[in-house]
Amino acid sequence: METIYLDHNSTTPTHPAVIHAMRPFWSETFGNPASAHHVGRKARQALEDARATVARLLDAEPGEVVFTSGATEANNLAIHGLLGEPAGAVVSSAIEHPSVNEPIRQAAQRGFVVVQLPVDSCGMVTIDPPHAIAARLVTLMLANNETGAIQPVRELRVQSEAPFHCDAVQAAGKMPVSFHSLGVTTLSLSAHKFQGPRGIGALLMKKGTRLKPLFWGGHQQQGLRPGTEPVALAVGLAAALRMACEEMEPRAQRCRTLRDEFLNALQKEASPIVLNGPKEGGLPHTLNVSFPGCRAEALLIRLDLAGVACSTGSACSSGSLMPSPVLQAMGCPPDVLHSAMRFSFSHETSEADLVEGAQRIGQAVRALRAMAWEEE
Ligand code: PMP
Repeated sequence: METIYLDHNSTTPTHPAVIHAMRPFWSETFGNPASAHHVGRKARQALEDARATVARLLDAEPGEVVFTSGATEANNLAIHGLLGEPAGAVVSSAIEHPSVNEPIRQAAQRGFVVVQLPVDSCGMVTIDPPHAIAARLVTLMLANNETGAIQPVRELRVQSEAPFHCDAVQAAGKMPVSFHSLGVTTLSLSAHKFQGPRGIGALLMKKGTRLKPLFWGGHQQQGLRPGTEPVALAVGLAAALRMACEEMEPRAQRCRTLRDEFLNALQKEASPIVLNGPKEGGLPHTLNVSFPGCRAEALLIRLDLAGVACSTGSACSSGSLMPSPVLQAMGCPPDVLHSAMRFSFSHETSEADLVEGAQRIGQAVRALRAMAWEEE
């Protein structure tokens, strides 16, 4: 049985052209970019080219790009690095990723007061009525990983002069992102979400920002992220982001079509279903759907056995039986909350896979609903 992979918000297969672009930097061009000799200088050139490409594609300056091991590190670096002492207020949202929530929770233990902005029933942060925000740090993600809801980052940014961190992991490469127009202080991204390699991300950091590093003991990347830079991974990140940005509109258009067709197919195969998240205008490759009468964990296992790979929420919190904090914040009723599944695909997903996927999902949902009725 062919696997149908509907979990692209968790991670994506690395694009063959990206692997091709990285290949020389595992072998012949292997130098340490900090070395003064020509082997090192060649590696440094590739690293700085990658940095310049990332900066150009996200409307930042090369000196504003810090490579990290991924977005978990980038989010931690931004939040721990910007907060400093003494304690004050942090404004965040109810739908942030655990890699944002956890450093904020740690700050709360150090005495910071955390204010969480609520979301509406579609998963959009509400900032009505607008008012000036006095805080030591504001954080808001650009697009939500579970529902695909695109957040009003610019609108919130103009209400505060505080340092502002934006987790743009699910947005980068999928929708236009201009670091300078957003006006935020720091912005995180991760290569493996847009067909780049796992193990590298970046933190964009506004010129002149003072940020305390997480690690110490090297001069690399302005001392902000010391350690020998992974040149091959940086080249891969830049190559993947370039492809994603160049093909952004046709890819998004295709995903919109696929999303509509898949939703129709699910309605036919597994009715009644509930759509969680924005009806229009969200990330086009993300669909969060509840199947009342089923338990999401049981459905996930059945679907895995049936060859459909998807998720009950963010992969980082899977394994726990806790319902999604994002859907909880949206006020979903219990049967919707406990039966929610996230399907995320890519422009490379085929129509045939989605038709077949919806059939397998329908079968699993019908079986679980029948079992629930028998138990009653
Ligand atoms: N933020 C968001 C919104 C994410 O979806 C993820 C990945 N699940 C991360 C941060 C963490 O990214 P990484 O896997 O690169 O650590």
